This record gives sequence, structure tokens and C-alpha cells, in this order.
Amino acid sequence: MDNKVKAYLQAFGVSEATQRFLSKPQRMFIGGAWLEASDGGSAEVVEPSTEGVLTRIPMGTADDLDRAVRAARAQFDGGAWSQLKPLERERLIHRLADLIETHGDELAQIEAIDMGKSVVQARAVDIQGTVDTLRYFAGWASKIHGRTVEPSLPGNYLAYTRKEAVGVVGAIVPWNFPLQTMAWKLGAALATGCTVVVKPAELTSLSALRFAELVQAAGIPDGVVNIVTGRGSVVGQAMTCHPGIDKLSFTGSTPVGCTVGKTAMDQMKRLTLELGGKSPVIVFADADIEAAAQAVANGVFFNSGQVCDAGTRAYIERSVYPAFLEALARYTATLKIAPGLDPDCFISPMVSQQQQQRVLDYIALGKAEGAQVHYGGEPLDGPGFYVQPTIFAHCRNDMRIVSEEIFGPVLVTQPFDTQEQALALANDSLFGLAAAIYSNDLGRVHGLIPQLRAGTVYVNAHSTLDPAMPFGGYKQSGYGKDLGAEQLEFLLETKAVWITLP
Ligand code: NAP
Ligand code: MG
Repeated sequence: MDNKVKAYLQAFGVSEATQRFLSKPQRMFIGGAWLEASDGGSAEVVEPSTEGVLTRIPMGTADDLDRAVRAARAQFDGGAWSQLKPLERERLIHRLADLIETHGDELAQIEAIDMGKSVVQARAVDIQGTVDTLRYFAGWASKIHGRTVEPSLPGNYLAYTRKEAVGVVGAIVPWNFPLQTMAWKLGAALATGCTVVVKPAELTSLSALRFAELVQAAGIPDGVVNIVTGRGSVVGQAMTCHPGIDKLSFTGSTPVGCTVGKTAMDQMKRLTLELGGKSPVIVFADADIEAAAQAVANGVFFNSGQVCDAGTRAYIERSVYPAFLEALARYTATLKIAPGLDPDCFISPMVSQQQQQRVLDYIALGKAEGAQVHYGGEPLDGPGFYVQPTIFAHCRNDMRIVSEEIFGPVLVTQPFDTQEQALALANDSLFGLAAAIYSNDLGRVHGLIPQLRAGTVYVNAHSTLDPAMPFGGYKQSGYGKDLGAEQLEFLLETKAVWITLP
């Protein structure tokens, strides 16, 4: 850890437990062993607000991935895990949730320091979300079953279905909600009796490695959960084509998801793809304009806009457009731009210099495309990969800043005249992850919901999440669902059984 990072951690009184974890050499977790990369490779981890070096993580190889898959297979194919009764799995998942709760502050600090995000939001959203997700799926372990069927066939048969765990799950995770996204994939997989190999994002692997220590402490058998850190092009690619992986669960960008999906299909792997978004927000004149402006700003600037279902395209009824823009700017000005460990931080730095540059390039592009900067849009002094929250006005759907995912704190807006026009503009996108409506006219809201081509529709709020509610996109935002009872179907095979009775 370099001195800049040390000073940062000291300035905000980071706990001894967190410091201890961050100061020790990091190892991958494979078959219950803590390992370096088989070729000794490792990479620097950069802290986003100081730009200092935090630590190093192993850069796993295809061999490391293979070892992890073998460990996971051994547990699935007759190992101790496969012998556990559902209530025993349930108890172990609850024990893991308890440990995460106990170490919640430490995990929130690790996440904030590694990814750059607000520590307060990490505790309230990422860590609490992880605990809640594990608890929700723990309860499912004992509630998965098939059905008996009354056949019409002549003769005497017993016909029933069995729900069977799909096998070894390969989970590929992005960097915006590292621990929570991993928990979305793990909770349901463990509940159904699968085993798991996780490839965290290269930029944010640390919380997964601390999580692995808690997996071990919870008494989950070695090999049930494996964490292989490294590059997407190496470990991720190896996972995608490994014949020992039965199901691939990928969260990330649409282009990478597309490639991964095609490769996985060569072996007919089961597949879930949670991909990008450019979620529309429709604000009607009858909405509470002040409240709507705050909700829209929170819905796009939370996690500095590095949120897959962020409401990034706002269509506002023309009569209230000027007032809405003003309310948006007034509220956005109150959001503190600060390092993640600052308890008042709302706008944290981007995860990396590359992501900062990508967002700044889009802001420059928006100006070049003729969109008006209504708020922000100026570079900020370093150190730290900060981007000012930025609001564009009078955009058009044919601008690239409106059609492409930016994945930063950038909101594009434009006025509309009729409900039909708003709906057409909202649906005019390759993505379909989420959409939001702000209105107090229940009849109108109810009529619009079925017409929006999106996996989630929020009304008078944004990004409300609960493990009991399914999450996943329409169109190029993905395939399949995480969370909710729906996710279980993507981790189970259904076997039809016919017994001919005498
Ligand atoms: P990304 O570049 O697609 O990477 C996602 C993951 O895939 C990372 O772990 C990455 O590893 C890995 N990867 C990269 N290339 C690979 C390959 N050829 N084969 C297998 N794996 C590969 O996305 P990101 O930039 O990390 O995350 C941002 C994107 O995720 C945004 O588009 C966002 O909308 C989307 N997202 C979607 C959801 C959802 O639920 N729909 C949730 C969160 C984020 P490395 O880190 O080593 O490159
Ligand atoms: Mg990092």
C-alpha cells in the first residue's frame, strides 16, 4: 500500500480489521486453498480517489480456472455438499449471512476503498443487499420440489417431476456492485445445491476474497465456492468454454455478454445474461415536480451513475420542462463530490481512469452533437477519477449520448408533448433493462406499464430492489432473471419421471 492510500485510510479512521485485510498478500480461493496464480502473475489494485496503489491481486490462469472447476465438480458429483439435506444447506447459507452481517462495516470499507464508492451507500445497499439476498435464498433451499401428474395415458403409471440442481455454475461479475452482484448469483446457486466458481471483475476483486474467508468460516465445504481472480480475456474466457461448467451466469456489458453467450452455446451451457441499459424516465406534468426531480437525480447519480438500470434518459412533459430542469440542477448541486470514505460523499470517483476518460469523452461528444449542457460538464481537478454530475438538455434520440450506455453520472433530457410520443421515445432503444414513470394519475400509469419494453418498471422512484423481486432485462439488456423465485428456474433442470406400475 503506498503512502497516499495509507494517509487516506488514516484520515477517515478505517478499522484495524480492514487495514489488516488490505495489508496482507491476496490469494485466490480454490478448493479451500489460498493460492497464487499458477504462473505467479499479479496486478496492481488502484484506489480511485488517491490514484495510489492499494495492493496486488493474483492474475489467475486457465489452469487455475480448471483447478477451481474440478474442485466444484468434485463437491457437486458426490462430494459432501451433494449429500447435504436442504435444511442443512439452508443453515449454512444463514450462517454465512450472519458472518457478513457481523463483518458488515469492514466489508463496506473494503468495497468503498477498492471500487471507490460511498462507504455509507456500500453499507446500506451493497452489504445489506448481500445479507438480504443470502437470507432470502437460504429459505428457498427447503422449498424446491417437483409435482406429481395424473396421466391420461391408458395403463397405470406414476408420473412426477424432479427439480435438480443444474451443476457447476460459473459466475462472471462486473465492478459496479461487486459483492452484491456475486451474492445474487451465489445465493440462488447454493440454495438449489449447485457449486460455484466466481470470476470477479479485475478492478474490484477484494470483497470477493474477504467473502471467501467468511465462506470458509461458515463451514461451507471446501470447493463449493471458488474465487478465481484475473482477466476477463483469460479467466472469464476459460470459464466460458470449460466443459466442466454447466451454467454460466454473466453480468456485464452487452458486447461482452454477446460474445460470452455465443461461446457458451457451443456447449449448450445454461445461460443467464444481465447486461447493459439506457433506462428511460417519463415525467408527466401532474407529478410532484420537486420530489420527481430528486428521485430522477438519485436514480441516475447513485454510485456515480455506474448502475446498470440507472435512469439515464429523461423525457419530460413540455409544460414543466424548464421548472423540472431547474429543480434537477438545484438538487444535483447539493450532492457532495468526495472520496468514498467521506461519510457525506454522494458522487464518488469513477472506478478507474479508463472509466473516467470514457465518461469525459461522452460528455465531449454530447457537446459536439449539439446537446446543451444544463449542469456540470466541466473537468474536475485530481487526484481521483472524478466526473462532475452532468445534465444535458434538448437532446434527441438520434444522438449517441442518448442511444449508448455511458455508465457514469450523465443524464440526457428532452421535452415531449403527448403520452404517445413519450412512450415511443422511451421504447426507442436497443436496451430494455428498466423504465420509470413519474405521475400521480394512476389510470395513466397503469395503462403505460404494459407498453414499456423493460424488465422492470419503477413508478415515482428508481432502483427499488428486493431479493424477492426478479431483475433482468428485455431486448439487448439480457436473458434470464436474477433474484426472486424466477431465478431458481435458471439453476434447476426439470426431470420427468415415468414409473410403469404393475
Ligand atoms: P464488462 O467489461 O462486460 O465486464 C464484465 C465481466 O466480464 C468482468 O468480470 C470482465 O472481466 C469479464 N470479461 C471481460 N471480457 C471477457 C471475456 N472475453 N470473456 C469472459 N469474461 C469477460 O462490463 P464492466 O465494464 O465490468 O461492467 C459494466 C457493464 O455491466 C455495464 O454495461 C453495465 O450495464 C453492466 N451491468 C449490468 C447489470 C445487470 O444486472 N443487467 C448489473 C451491473 C452491470 P475483467 O474485469 O477482468 O475485464
Ligand atoms: Mg479498485
